[in-house]
Amino acid sequence: MNTLSILGSTGSIGCNTLAVVRANPDRFQVLGLSARNRIEELAAQVREFHPRWAVVESEADVQRLATLVDGQDCEILWGETGLTRIASDPAVESVMSAIVGAAGLLPTMAAVGAAKRVLLANKEPLVMAGEWIMAEAARSGAVLLPVDSEHNAIFQCLPDDYRVGQPVQGVGVTGIVLTASGGPFLDRQGDLESVTPEQACAHPNWRMGPKISVDSATLMNKGLELIEASRLFAIAPEQVQIVIHPQSLVHSLVQYQDGSLLAQLGPADMCTPIAHALAWPQRIPAGVEFLDLLSVGRLDFHAPDEDRFPCLRLARQAIESGGTAPTILNAANEVAVAAFLDGEIAFTGIPRIIRATLERLQPAEAASLGEVMAADRAARETARAALRDSDRRAQRS
Ligand code: NAD
Ligand code: MG
Repeated sequence: MNTLSILGSTGSIGCNTLAVVRANPDRFQVLGLSARNRIEELAAQVREFHPRWAVVESEADVQRLATLVDGQDCEILWGETGLTRIASDPAVESVMSAIVGAAGLLPTMAAVGAAKRVLLANKEPLVMAGEWIMAEAARSGAVLLPVDSEHNAIFQCLPDDYRVGQPVQGVGVTGIVLTASGGPFLDRQGDLESVTPEQACAHPNWRMGPKISVDSATLMNKGLELIEASRLFAIAPEQVQIVIHPQSLVHSLVQYQDGSLLAQLGPADMCTPIAHALAWPQRIPAGVEFLDLLSVGRLDFHAPDEDRFPCLRLARQAIESGGTAPTILNAANEVAVAAFLDGEIAFTGIPRIIRATLERLQPAEAASLGEVMAADRAARETARAALRDSDRRAQRS
């Protein structure tokens, strides 16, 4: 039995992780679950999986959950202390990091520092503070397993003895090809000024939480993934090519110096990379449909349009600038996406707010994780000020 904590168990990745656990009841024992909202769903998970701990956001939620799970032998914890506990307790072997946004940084760091097997779905901490996470893993000996479908595909195409964090150049890799679906607006005619949050969240191939769905629609998701790939696989961003592949069946590719291009294919179902990371180096059933190439028929690939989707260029510029530029990019994107989802700005306002934030702040080399977190806070304030300015301009016109 492998013991497991899930940070963000009520989200899209969290629920898919529990689906894989449910399909493999003799292999995994859930020790910790956590959620910020959807407490009823968390209660149902507690009743089904009998974890030792469940973590909620605030002290007020503790009583709410306790009432819902009355009679269960489950300790209810709250806040950052609770998350850190389920991420680092000695009884826990694997931690699924599936909170959304930079909020996952500290619990993920706690799991890495405690030398867990850390299953990384939550990509924003890797963009915000990737160098610090990788350095902490190298120090502690934590095993990092990518869950993001592209990075999991890349990992599957690397040699068996390759460990995340090692430069892939050392195993003969000359480049990585990251595939992107192109999102819901790939073929949409006309400008994107008036698209709604509902349209942005209606992804053609994947069912995901709202933040990553909007990121997929702006293509910022691929920009974040470019930075994520360069951190996880210690590869220069220029060696990562981004290719639009609307079918989302080839999940990414690795190019070797002998001319080989290895790919991982499968249905667009996160249960595959989750099962791979949960069981690595073994293989387990994931409960997914198999891919029938004859019914697929064709696979298309083309270049992304960075004028129509400027977030991609902003992300590439941020990783090339280095220092805290990716931290600023990520923070501004989180603020802008939340404002778009709340109906405060247009879809096209997202890259505008990010660009304005990057222009107003000077990226610097951070000397500690504390400095990275300070850069994140400053970028959020600057992005909010940019939002207020754009609001004022909109009212004047
Ligand atoms: P989601 O919004 O569906 O779920 C997020 C989970 O985190 C929920 O359980 C929520 O309660 C919890 N949470 C949110 N904010 C929190 C906070 N401040 N503190 C504590 N808990 C909090 O998100 P998701 O789509 O499952 O994505 C999770 C992460 O995985 C993201 O970083 C995303 O980029 C990444 N990811 C998701 C997918 C996917 O298919 N959904 C694919 C690849 C990568
Ligand atoms: Mg992805």
